[in-house]
This record gives sequence, C-alpha cells and structure tokens, in this order.
Amino acid sequence: MIKLENIHKYYGNQHVLKGINLTVAKGEVVAILGPSGSGKSTLLRCINFLEQPSGGIVEINDKRVDAETASKADIVSLRNLTGMVFQQYHLFKNFTVLQNVMVGLTSVKKIHKVEAKKRSIEILERVGLANRLNHYPAQLSGGQQQRVGIARALALNPEVLLFDEPTSSLDPELVDEVLATIKKVANEGNTMLIVTHELNFARDISDRVIFMEDGLIVEEGTAEQLFNDPKVERTKQFLSKAI
Ligand code: ADP
Ligand code: MG
Repeated sequence: MIKLENIHKYYGNQHVLKGINLTVAKGEVVAILGPSGSGKSTLLRCINFLEQPSGGIVEINDKRVDAETASKADIVSLRNLTGMVFQQYHLFKNFTVLQNVMVGLTSVKKIHKVEAKKRSIEILERVGLANRLNHYPAQLSGGQQQRVGIARALALNPEVLLFDEPTSSLDPELVDEVLATIKKVANEGNTMLIVTHELNFARDISDRVIFMEDGLIVEEGTAEQLFNDPKVERTKQFLSKAI
C-alpha cells in the first residue's frame, strides 16, 4: 500500500538519500533506526513531500507521484493520505487542545464543526486526554502535548502515520506515556513508520525494522532478526552500542 521507488534527495550537492526502495503493507508497523545524519527524517519528509525528493516515485494506495513531474495537486493529495507526528509538537499555542485537533478536520477536510468536535473528542479520549479539552498547550506536560500531536494526526484518518522521533524532546519520565499511546495506535491496525532511538520500544511494536546509514537502507528484517542476528557489521555495532 506504500511503495517508495528509488528515492533520491540532494541538499545542494550533498547526496542525502541515495536510492531508497521500500514497500510497506497495510497495517504494518515499521521502525527506522540508524545513526544521526543517516537520512531518516529526510526519508519521512520525502514520503509526504514536506521535502521534495530529487528523484523517485512515492505511491500510497492508488496515488502514484513521480518526484520529477509532481504537480501541486499531486502533493496535496499525497499529503492528505499521511499524518505526521514531529519531535517538536508544533501545536497552535493560542488554540485549546480540542481546537488543535479540530482544525485539520474543519479547515482541511471541510467537515462541519459539530461533527468535527464529536470526532475530535472521541480521539482525545483514545489518547487519554478527555479531561484536557479546554487546556492550552502551555498548560500541559510535554507528554500530554505530544499526545495532542498524535490525536491531531489520527483525526485526519490518514492511510499512514509518520512519527519522527516522537519522544526525543521529552523528559525521561514522560517518555513511557507517549510510547504507550503509540503502541495503542499501532495495535488499532494503523500503518506506521516510526523513526526512534527507543530500541526496546522498536523491538516491541514493530513488524519490521529498517537500519539506515549514509542515505541507504543497509539492512532490514524482523526485530528478532535485526536485534539477535544482524548481518551487517554496522548494524551490529549500532545496536550493541545503543543497548
Ligand atoms: P537523521 O534524521 O537520520 O538524523 P536527516 O535526514 O535529518 O538525518 O539529515 C540527513 C543529512 O541531510 C544530514 O547531513 C543533514 O545535515 C542534511 N540535511 C537535513 N535537512 C537539511 C536541510 N533542510 N538542508 C540542508 N541539509 C539538510
Ligand atoms: Mg532526524
């Protein structure tokens, strides 16, 4: 249901993605690991054209977009098929929790306010924030803010959820509540790609793990395979150092 074909990305003359090929099935949870600077964030951002790939094809469901010929309309429809959760939550500071989740439904999806509100409340209940609807982001902990970020992404009912180090900005004691929320979302059957440094978490929730280095996928397999029996020396080093 998601297919990346030969994705390349240059920043100036720096070649950051060097031909990424990846297929993700519906409902699959894929963890992306790899050292800092290996291109993980760039890859996620190329999937929804937050960064325009320099070459290659992104396919989500029946929507197939070639980076070289992509129109504005192509990019908008691709973006509407994805939901992204960032390391920095990027919430609207002057909006309440409920408004932050509703705004995508009313403005992007043009859903009536009454219905948008109902759906937003349901989703905020799922992430454990039903009692924070009228709070502003500044009144929440980092973990709660990130759960609003997750609710906002879920509200649009995307085909795929993209998480870029969703717990990296959090104080250590707040990480677990966010990981638990992401695990719940994964167990609901959502298709997800997650860049994370939380190796135990990656091992716990992913159907497949991808290891990236220097703009390439150097190894992939089940969490079992990668953690217990990595084939590539670099993967072995990374995983042993990080545990
Ligand atoms: P990761 O997420 O694995 O740490 P990134 O995808 O953020 O890696 O970055 C990969 C490389 O691309 C790095 O060398 C980084 O400096 C460079 N890079 C990322 N974003 C930009 C940008 N907007 N402009 C220029 N270089 C960038
Ligand atoms: Mg990154």
